[in-house]
Amino acid sequence: MLKLHNLTRTYQTDDVETLALNNVNIEIAQGEFVAIMGPSGCGKSTLLNTIGMLDSPSSGTYEFNGEDISSYSEAQLSVIRKKNIGFIFQNFNLIDELTVQENIELALLYHNIPASERNKRVIEVMDKVGIAHRAKHMPSQLSGGQQQRVAVARAVVGDQKMILADEPTGNLDSAHGQEVMEMLQTLNAEGTTIVMVTHSPTHADYAKRTINLFDGHVVTERVKAA
Ligand code: ADP
Ligand code: ADP
Repeated sequence: MLKLHNLTRTYQTDDVETLALNNVNIEIAQGEFVAIMGPSGCGKSTLLNTIGMLDSPSSGTYEFNGEDISSYSEAQLSVIRKKNIGFIFQNFNLIDELTVQENIELALLYHNIPASERNKRVIEVMDKVGIAHRAKHMPSQLSGGQQQRVAVARAVVGDQKMILADEPTGNLDSAHGQEVMEMLQTLNAEGTTIVMVTHSPTHADYAKRTINLFDGHVVTERVKAA
């Protein structure tokens, strides 16, 4: 599904250059569940943002579904991103002024889908993540666990093939964290590719493969026995 080749990302701030990603080579196939781990500042977020086409490499190539997208414009990337990738963040990133239902539907507005079909899909996906009874609520009226369910619904409502999750359980207690992990596990079993940054070894254990970063490069990879 994706292939990063000799990928490097540097940040230049004043006179300091930071090598956030240093010659990274990673391949991820459709249907994988990958955890990315490593100490704070090692490049996890930069890696996830690069995979999510929110950040561009300084050098190296990024192949997505067989296409080298390294030099694509933001407009081209945006089309590929919206069609293929759903995002989940530690802070949920819902829009405070929109209801649960509207937050989820927003992810469909970029797809060319009639309103009645949109409505049907949003209802289906709310049922799936168990948030249908809160459809008309505002995010501020929900618990953290419920907000993350909405974010999961938003990430998959457009039939995205890949979910990128940046510490999706970081702001949740262990029971709600586990719920979110089980949801991701179910989606993965249905074929969705999942790439997740986490500090939790317990949650990394849901993944079939773990990539450890240190100072911007891959130091170890572990594949879980079947
Ligand atoms: P964590 O991985 O522990 O959640 P973050 O990803 O939020 O931490 O940030 C890691 C480091 O990168 C921090 O030192 C932070 O200050 C720095 N950092 C993250 N994003 C930016 C940014 N946009 N500009 C400058 N520094 C950043
Ligand atoms: P992690 O997610 O593992 O904490 P990051 O990918 O956030 O790491 O950051 C990797 C390195 O790049 C860190 O040294 C961080 O300070 C630096 N960095 C991240 N974003 C920026 C930015 N926008 N500007 C400058 N430095 C950044």
